[in-house]
Amino acid sequence: MARKVKRPTANPGSLGTACQLDGKPANPYAGTLKRLRDAFDSGRTRPAEFRIAQLQALSRFLKENRKLILDTLKKDMGKPAVEADVSEIVLCESEIKLALNNLHTWMKDEKVEKNLATQLDSAFIRKEPYGVALIIAPWNYPLNLLLVPLVGAIAAGNCVILKPSEISKNMEKVVAEVLPRYLDKNCFAIVVGGPQEATALLKNKFDYIFFTGSSRVGRIVMTAASKHLTPITLELGGKNPCYVDDDCDPQNVANRVAWFRFFNAGQTCVAPDFLLCSRETQERLLPALQRAVTQFYGKDPQHSPDLGRIISEKHFHRLRGLLGSGRVALGGQWDEQERYMAPTVLVGVQETDPVMQEEIFGPILPIVNVQSLDEAVAFINKREKPLALYAFSNNAKVVNEVLERTHSGNFGGNDGFMYMTLMSLPFGGVGLSGMGDYHGKFTFDTFSQRRGCLLRSPRLEMINQLRYPPYSPRHQRLLVWLVDHKLGFPCSIL
Ligand code: NAD
Repeated sequence: MARKVKRPTANPGSLGTACQLDGKPANPYAGTLKRLRDAFDSGRTRPAEFRIAQLQALSRFLKENRKLILDTLKKDMGKPAVEADVSEIVLCESEIKLALNNLHTWMKDEKVEKNLATQLDSAFIRKEPYGVALIIAPWNYPLNLLLVPLVGAIAAGNCVILKPSEISKNMEKVVAEVLPRYLDKNCFAIVVGGPQEATALLKNKFDYIFFTGSSRVGRIVMTAASKHLTPITLELGGKNPCYVDDDCDPQNVANRVAWFRFFNAGQTCVAPDFLLCSRETQERLLPALQRAVTQFYGKDPQHSPDLGRIISEKHFHRLRGLLGSGRVALGGQWDEQERYMAPTVLVGVQETDPVMQEEIFGPILPIVNVQSLDEAVAFINKREKPLALYAFSNNAKVVNEVLERTHSGNFGGNDGFMYMTLMSLPFGGVGLSGMGDYHGKFTFDTFSQRRGCLLRSPRLEMINQLRYPPYSPRHQRLLVWLVDHKLGFPCSIL
C-alpha cells in the first residue's frame, strides 16, 4: 500500500533547492549535491586525517547507539538481538577497524613494473576518490548494507549521499536523525523516502552509485546511471541453490541449512533459497530439519525470542501466497497480526511452482528433487547466475565438482554464508545477481578510481631523441626493444 504521509526530509538542513517552479522545487536535491560537490572539490576529504576522523565518528555512532540500534531492529522486524548484533553492528565495526588499520597502506601509490623506455621515470597507480557517491540500501540489513559501503567510500575519500530504505522505517528515522550528528555535514548527507524520492535523486549526476536491492530496481538504477555514464556497483538478489548430496550427515546439513535459511526470518539475500536433493536424502533430511527447528526455536517457534518477523504486511502476504506451492512438510503456521511465519519446509515442489519463480526472502525452504549431481548442475545452470550457491557432501570431490561446473557470486561448501564474515573475500553477484564487489579492501577499491600515472624528468631530453621522427629501421628496432623489455631491478631518477 502506498504511503500517503508526506515525509519530512530527515536531515532538513542538508537539502537545498535548485529553483522553484510553481512553488515546487525542480530538483529538491540540487542544494545537497552542490554542498557535497563543493566540499569534495575543496579537497577536504583527501587527507588521511579527515578520513580517519570520519571513520572514528562512525565507530562512535555504533558504540554510543548500540541499544537504540538493537531496539530499532527489533521494532522493524523483530530481529533477535544476537543476530542484529553480529550482522548489523559487529560486521560494521570490523570493517571500520580494518579500514583504520590499513588506511595508509591502501591510500599509498602503488609502484608498477616498467619497461626500458620508462626506466628512469616514476610509474604508479594513484587511488583517487571518485567524488560524490550515492549509496542506496535495502531494508533487510538496513544498517549493515548502508554503513559497510560507507566505510569504503569514506576510506577512499569520497563525499556520500546515503539513501536508507523507507521500508525499515524506524531504522530510516534513526539513520536520518542520529547519524548526521557524527559525520561532517558538508561531506555526508542522508536522503529519506521511497521510489519517488529515489527517482528524483537519481536524476542528479553522481560520480559513483552503489546500489543494494532487487534486480528489478537495479535495472532502474542502472538506466539512470547510464544517462551520466556513472560507474556503478549493483548488489542484487536471486534464488540461491543448495545442493545436498546423498553422501552427507543429514543432521549436520539440517542444522547448518536451517540456521542460514531462518536467520533474520529468511530475509537474507544470500540465504539458501531452495534445496536440491534426491527423494531419499529428502526423507532423511526432513526429521533432521524438524529436530533442528525445535532445538533452535522450541516447540512453538512463534514464542521464540530468536526468530524474527516479516518486515511488512505486503511482504507477509506475498510469502503466504508461496505456501501453496507443493506440500507443507514442516511448519506452515502463520499469524498475520504479528507478521509471524513458522520456519517452513515445502516438498513435492515443481520447477514451475510460484515458489520457484521468485526470490523467496522469507522462512520458507522448498525442496526440489533431482536424481543425480548432473541433474542438479543442469538445473542450476539453466537458471540465472545466483548471488550464492551451496553444496553439502561428505565427499570433497562432489563439493568441488559443484564449484567447478557452476557460476555464482559466492560459494559455500558444507556451510552457509559464513564467507560474509571474511573481509578478505570479495562479496558480490554475477549476471542478474549483480556486478562489482565489496567488503574489506574491496570496498576501498570499489570507491577508488585507479589513476595510472607516469612522471618523467623535464630534463634528459637526449634520451627522448630516440623516439622522434624522422623514423628509420634502426629507430624502429630500438623502440620496439625499449618498449618490449624490462630491467630486472627497479630504477628511477624521480
Ligand atoms: P528494493 O530494490 O525494493 O529497494 C532497495 C532500495 O531501492 C530502497 O532504498 C528503495 O527505496 C530504493 N528504490 C525503490 N524503488 C526505487 C526506484 N524506482 N528507483 C530508485 N530506487 C528505488 O529492494 P528491497 O525490497 O529493499 O530489498 C530486497 C532485495 O534486495 C532482495 O532482492 C534482496 O536479494 C536484495 N538484497 C541484496 C543484497 C546483496 O548484497 N546482494 C543484500 C540485501 C538485499
